[in-house]
Amino acid sequence: MLNNALFSVDYNEMVIVKDIDFYSLCEHHLLPFFGKCHVAYIPSNKVIGLSKIPRLVEVFSRRLQVQERLTNQIADTILEKIAPRGVAVVMEGTHLCMSMRGVEKQNSFAVTSAMHGIFRDKARTRMEFLELIRLRSNIRGAGSAAELACADE
Ligand SMILES: [Zn+2]
Repeated sequence: MLNNALFSVDYNEMVIVKDIDFYSLCEHHLLPFFGKCHVAYIPSNKVIGLSKIPRLVEVFSRRLQVQERLTNQIADTILEKIAPRGVAVVMEGTHLCMSMRGVEKQNSFAVTSAMHGIFRDKARTRMEFLELIRLRSNIRGAGSAAELACADE
Protein backbone atom coordinates (compact mmCIF):
# COMPACT_ATOMS: atom_id res chain seq x y z
CA MET A 1 0.00 0.00 0.00
CA LEU A 2 2.92 2.35 0.52
CA ASN A 3 4.83 1.77 -2.65
CA ASN A 4 3.05 4.47 -4.64
CA ALA A 5 3.21 6.95 -1.81
CA LEU A 6 6.93 7.37 -1.26
CA PHE A 7 8.50 10.56 -2.49
CA SER A 8 12.00 11.94 -2.67
CA VAL A 9 12.27 15.38 -1.13
CA ASP A 10 14.76 17.84 0.21
CA TYR A 11 13.15 18.25 3.59
CA ASN A 12 14.70 17.30 6.89
CA GLU A 13 12.46 18.72 9.57
CA MET A 14 10.19 16.67 11.76
CA VAL A 15 6.99 15.39 10.14
CA ILE A 16 4.23 14.72 12.67
CA VAL A 17 0.81 13.18 12.25
CA LYS A 18 -0.97 13.15 15.58
CA ASP A 19 -4.28 12.10 17.07
CA ILE A 20 -4.83 9.27 14.59
CA ASP A 21 -7.76 7.23 15.85
CA PHE A 22 -7.19 3.52 16.01
CA TYR A 23 -9.47 0.66 16.88
CA SER A 24 -8.15 -2.85 17.40
CA LEU A 25 -8.84 -6.15 19.11
CA CYS A 26 -6.71 -7.50 21.93
CA GLU A 27 -5.50 -10.99 21.10
CA HIS A 28 -5.45 -12.13 24.72
CA HIS A 29 -9.04 -11.33 25.56
CA LEU A 30 -10.65 -10.73 22.15
CA LEU A 31 -11.89 -7.39 23.44
CA PRO A 32 -11.48 -3.99 21.78
CA PHE A 33 -8.79 -1.52 22.58
CA PHE A 34 -8.76 1.87 20.94
CA GLY A 35 -7.38 5.33 21.24
CA LYS A 36 -4.93 7.72 19.64
CA CYS A 37 -1.72 7.14 17.75
CA HIS A 38 0.95 9.77 17.14
CA VAL A 39 3.63 9.29 14.52
CA ALA A 40 6.68 11.41 13.78
CA TYR A 41 9.73 11.00 11.62
CA ILE A 42 12.62 13.03 10.33
CA PRO A 43 13.28 12.20 6.69
CA SER A 44 16.69 11.60 5.24
CA ASN A 45 15.65 11.81 1.58
CA LYS A 46 12.25 10.19 1.31
CA VAL A 47 8.84 10.95 2.76
CA ILE A 48 5.57 9.05 2.90
CA GLY A 49 2.39 10.63 1.55
CA LEU A 50 0.77 12.09 4.68
CA SER A 51 -2.56 10.40 4.18
CA LYS A 52 -0.81 7.03 4.15
CA ILE A 53 0.23 7.23 7.77
CA PRO A 54 -3.29 6.89 9.22
CA ARG A 55 -3.85 4.17 6.64
CA LEU A 56 -0.78 2.31 7.91
CA VAL A 57 -2.11 2.53 11.47
CA GLU A 58 -5.43 1.19 10.27
CA VAL A 59 -3.92 -1.74 8.39
CA PHE A 60 -1.98 -2.99 11.41
CA SER A 61 -4.87 -2.32 13.81
CA ARG A 62 -7.24 -4.43 11.82
CA ARG A 63 -5.83 -7.72 13.07
CA LEU A 64 -5.65 -9.28 16.52
CA GLN A 65 -3.03 -7.29 18.33
CA VAL A 66 -1.24 -6.35 21.47
CA GLN A 67 -0.60 -2.65 21.73
CA GLU A 68 3.16 -3.03 22.13
CA ARG A 69 3.50 -5.00 18.90
CA LEU A 70 1.17 -2.69 17.00
CA THR A 71 3.34 0.27 18.01
CA ASN A 72 6.50 -1.50 16.87
CA GLN A 73 5.03 -2.62 13.56
CA ILE A 74 4.07 0.92 12.60
CA ALA A 75 7.53 2.24 13.48
CA ASP A 76 9.35 -0.65 11.80
CA THR A 77 7.40 -0.26 8.56
CA ILE A 78 8.30 3.42 8.31
CA LEU A 79 11.94 2.62 9.08
CA GLU A 80 12.01 -0.03 6.42
CA LYS A 81 10.27 2.00 3.71
CA ILE A 82 12.00 5.35 3.88
CA ALA A 83 15.03 4.86 6.16
CA PRO A 84 14.45 8.15 7.99
CA ARG A 85 16.88 9.77 10.41
CA GLY A 86 14.47 8.79 13.12
CA VAL A 87 10.94 7.61 13.76
CA ALA A 88 8.73 7.82 16.84
CA VAL A 89 5.36 6.23 17.46
CA VAL A 90 3.30 6.70 20.62
CA MET A 91 -0.03 5.01 21.21
CA GLU A 92 -2.52 5.67 23.97
CA GLY A 93 -5.09 2.92 24.23
CA THR A 94 -8.12 2.27 26.37
CA HIS A 95 -8.49 -1.48 26.83
CA LEU A 96 -11.91 -2.88 27.56
CA CYS A 97 -10.25 -5.94 29.07
CA MET A 98 -8.63 -3.65 31.64
CA SER A 99 -11.79 -1.71 32.39
CA MET A 100 -13.88 -4.85 32.69
CA ARG A 101 -11.50 -6.47 35.12
CA GLY A 102 -11.61 -3.33 37.20
CA VAL A 103 -7.93 -2.54 36.81
CA GLU A 104 -7.54 1.02 38.03
CA LYS A 105 -10.32 3.29 36.89
CA GLN A 106 -12.63 2.99 33.92
CA ASN A 107 -10.77 5.65 32.01
CA SER A 108 -7.26 4.31 32.50
CA PHE A 109 -5.25 3.70 29.37
CA ALA A 110 -1.97 2.19 28.34
CA VAL A 111 0.80 4.15 26.68
CA THR A 112 3.33 2.45 24.44
CA SER A 113 6.11 3.97 22.40
CA ALA A 114 8.74 3.02 19.85
CA MET A 115 11.65 5.42 19.35
CA HIS A 116 14.34 4.91 16.73
CA GLY A 117 17.31 6.81 15.39
CA ILE A 118 17.50 10.41 16.42
CA PHE A 119 14.42 10.11 18.63
CA ARG A 120 16.22 7.51 20.67
CA ASP A 121 19.62 9.18 20.64
CA LYS A 122 18.70 12.81 21.21
CA ALA A 123 16.68 13.74 24.25
CA ARG A 124 15.89 17.16 22.77
CA THR A 125 14.33 15.72 19.63
CA ARG A 126 12.34 13.25 21.69
CA MET A 127 11.14 15.99 24.04
CA GLU A 128 10.14 18.19 21.12
CA PHE A 129 7.98 15.39 19.78
CA LEU A 130 6.43 14.61 23.17
CA GLU A 131 5.75 18.28 23.71
CA LEU A 132 4.04 18.56 20.33
CA ILE A 133 1.72 15.65 20.94
CA ARG A 134 0.95 16.62 24.57
CA LEU A 135 0.16 13.19 25.89
CA ARG A 136 -3.00 12.94 27.91
CA SER A 137 -0.96 10.72 30.18
CA ASN A 138 1.29 13.58 31.26
CA ILE A 139 -1.38 14.18 33.82
CA ARG A 140 -0.76 10.85 35.47
CA GLY A 141 2.71 9.93 34.30
CA ALA A 142 3.26 7.65 31.36
CA GLY A 143 5.43 5.19 33.26
CA SER A 144 2.71 3.69 35.39
CA ALA A 145 0.22 3.56 32.56
CA ALA A 146 2.52 1.49 30.36
CA GLU A 147 2.59 -1.27 32.94
CA LEU A 148 -1.14 -1.65 32.66
CA ALA A 149 -1.10 -2.99 29.11
CA CYS A 150 -3.37 -5.98 28.95
CA ALA A 151 -0.66 -8.53 28.18
CA ASP A 152 -0.31 -9.34 31.89
CA GLU A 153 -2.54 -12.26 32.64
ZN1 LIG B 1 -6.63 -7.68 26.69
